[in-house]
Amino acid sequence: MSLRLEGKNALITGGASGIGRATAVRFAEEGANVFVADRHLAAAEETAAKVRALGRKAVAHQVDTSAEKEVAAMVDRCVAELGGVDVLVAAAGISHARYGEEGNPAMGPLAEKPLADWKKVLSVNLDGVFLTDREVARVMIKAGKGGRIINISSGAAKLPTPGVGEYSVSKAGVWMLTKVLAVELAPYGITANAIGPGFINTPMTANIQQAEGFMKQLIERVPLKKMGEPIDVANTALFLASEEGRYYTGSILHPDGGVVMQ
Ligand code: NAP
Repeated sequence: MSLRLEGKNALITGGASGIGRATAVRFAEEGANVFVADRHLAAAEETAAKVRALGRKAVAHQVDTSAEKEVAAMVDRCVAELGGVDVLVAAAGISHARYGEEGNPAMGPLAEKPLADWKKVLSVNLDGVFLTDREVARVMIKAGKGGRIINISSGAAKLPTPGVGEYSVSKAGVWMLTKVLAVELAPYGITANAIGPGFINTPMTANIQQAEGFMKQLIERVPLKKMGEPIDVANTALFLASEEGRYYTGSILHPDGGVVMQ
């Protein structure tokens, strides 16, 4: 059987860690070359080495996805070194969630939220995804071969997250951004979909996992009674990037053990 992403070029932001890294490796297993972009160059290099070990091309690149010029330079380099972008996975994101740490100033109700904490999350999680999608869409339109844009949103786009309301707002924004792009880019054969993971075992949730009581409550709310692994999200991204996912656009898929349906 042929590989699902044979010869495709994928740009993955947040590729140095968690969901982005698992997606880079899963895509490489299915034949893709991967441009691994992240704030952390050394860790991005580690992901790139895993991709190369599977026989694919990989480039590691340092970027702050909330900085407009850096995003443009990232996409230019991807085109220069890999020859184009067929698939984008925008996974770079941050959260102020630090359950179990008393008095963390970044956590608290919106009524007390400092503007700087609000803006920080919105600038990475929403502006950063918009900028990345915009630059990649321009390249895909110019190339005229269609493409797949996959934005990592969250179940928090639908479920409010008290204490880190700005995270929910940013992820709901990503979902709507994805839907607008799906309509605007359809004439070019470019699909845009979002993934809304539930609670996934990555460095982002390491601190939450240490807060035992809170962790127990979280798992209790998951119908499948366990947290997800990065590969669960990577396989969802693979489906959306592959031929099998060609008729999806403007959707949000939830690898979440059943949390969001409730
Ligand atoms: P992760 O392990 O922390 O990976 C995210 C990577 O993106 C990190 O290397 C992070 O660096 C990097 N990054 C953050 N801001 C960046 C920026 N401005 N420019 C470039 N890179 C940046 O987290 P993850 O759990 O894999 O999360 C990936 C995506 O899934 C995020 O968008 C997250 O919101 C979403 N998500 C995660 C879960 C979950 O339960 N894990 C659930 C739903 C949605 P730093 O470590 O320095 O921040």
